[in-house]
Amino acid sequence: MPLPASIDSGRIRLNALLLVGSASAASLVVGAGAAQAPSPVTHSLTVIRHEKTALTDARADQILREASAALAADDDGAGNGGALDDRPCAVTLARSGAVGVFTEAQAPGVILSSADWTKLTRLPGWVKIVQRVRWCSGPTSTAIGCGSTPGRSFALTRQVSGIEFKLWAHEFGHNTRLGHNSVNGRAIMNQGAATYKREVNANECTSYRTGAPRGVFGPPLAQEELRSLQPIGVAQFVRTRWIEGLPYAQARSYRRSDAAILLRMLPRAAPMVVSNIFATLGAIGDRRAVAAMIGYMTSSASHSLSSEEVGDRTGIPIALGWLANRNRDPRALELLQAGMDPAYWTPERLPWVGRSGEDLASIQLEMASASAMGLGLAGQAAPAEAFGRAEMAARTLRTADSDRLVEIVREARGIRGEVSRSGLAAFYAARRPR
Ligand SMILES: [Zn+2]
Repeated sequence: MPLPASIDSGRIRLNALLLVGSASAASLVVGAGAAQAPSPVTHSLTVIRHEKTALTDARADQILREASAALAADDDGAGNGGALDDRPCAVTLARSGAVGVFTEAQAPGVILSSADWTKLTRLPGWVKIVQRVRWCSGPTSTAIGCGSTPGRSFALTRQVSGIEFKLWAHEFGHNTRLGHNSVNGRAIMNQGAATYKREVNANECTSYRTGAPRGVFGPPLAQEELRSLQPIGVAQFVRTRWIEGLPYAQARSYRRSDAAILLRMLPRAAPMVVSNIFATLGAIGDRRAVAAMIGYMTSSASHSLSSEEVGDRTGIPIALGWLANRNRDPRALELLQAGMDPAYWTPERLPWVGRSGEDLASIQLEMASASAMGLGLAGQAAPAEAFGRAEMAARTLRTADSDRLVEIVREARGIRGEVSRSGLAAFYAARRPR
């Protein structure tokens, strides 16, 4: 059974107090007094991109230069060396070799499952540019990056240029064992991506300088709630680019009145903000959102869609799963069950096209995967045999897709069991470090 919202938000407040307490204690212990500037450390990263993404050597270099500059800068002036003090960190991130290209046969461009993640991680290369990240220790409709913690591999989507340095530096930080910095909203290791999030404290700098261990590929960190003492309004919440995905427990702490705000924002919302709006509406569990979600997914678009706009639509079944988890909405559950069969997603049901070379079969697979994961996250008892039927349907696909979807359906079935036993908030919480 999911916990009532009041208990969840109470736990968040308690964690916030504990973390702020430990942050100020650390600043007392570390104290002031900068030693003389250490010599720079260079980490060389091999960069590869999926065949349906774009990235030039020059652009990769620019991102790495900006990331190195953010690490090196002392943005807040000389401070006390504590947890909230930005330190100048002499670390250079550099490109190793030309940006390589990997094919769909080598590793998937859309990360849909644990198996996809493993395949991508094992592919030689460090920075891996993909089309979409739909799994980061668990299913998500809103992630834009994900990295082994620790290990020498991370996956990223291309983003508006101003924030890419932060994404690369952030995932590299996870590779060096760093967790999230929820206390400092201006930290590179903060969960949201924004141009001003450039700070590293003394402990984080030590980790950046040490670098990432060889030969280990730790599981990535899942989405994580902010521990800020000041709650953020729902409009700001959905405008945040949550790197590993919008945090479920925080989303579900919003109310019916917030859902009304989100439904009003929807018609004018930017790509990606749309995904965040649907995920939050799902977490709130407001039934009015079901028609809005299905309508958005199945109505035609006036132009061919960008990768983010396609993602706004293909992530909706996961948001419907969050919604059905809270209120068992029969329309949502029916759609998720039917949608696990790729053949359900006919061009009539999805009357839009992507301009990044997605073919119908790959969109159908993505929709079927999102439906299976959505049904798993819903955690309801009834559809146990629906997963069996979905596995049968998956076996009729073209060979590569067939094996992949069978694995996805099996993972989704396991998720359903875990969510029905412990609740959805606990499911995501279990995928974070302790
Ligand atoms: Zn992160």
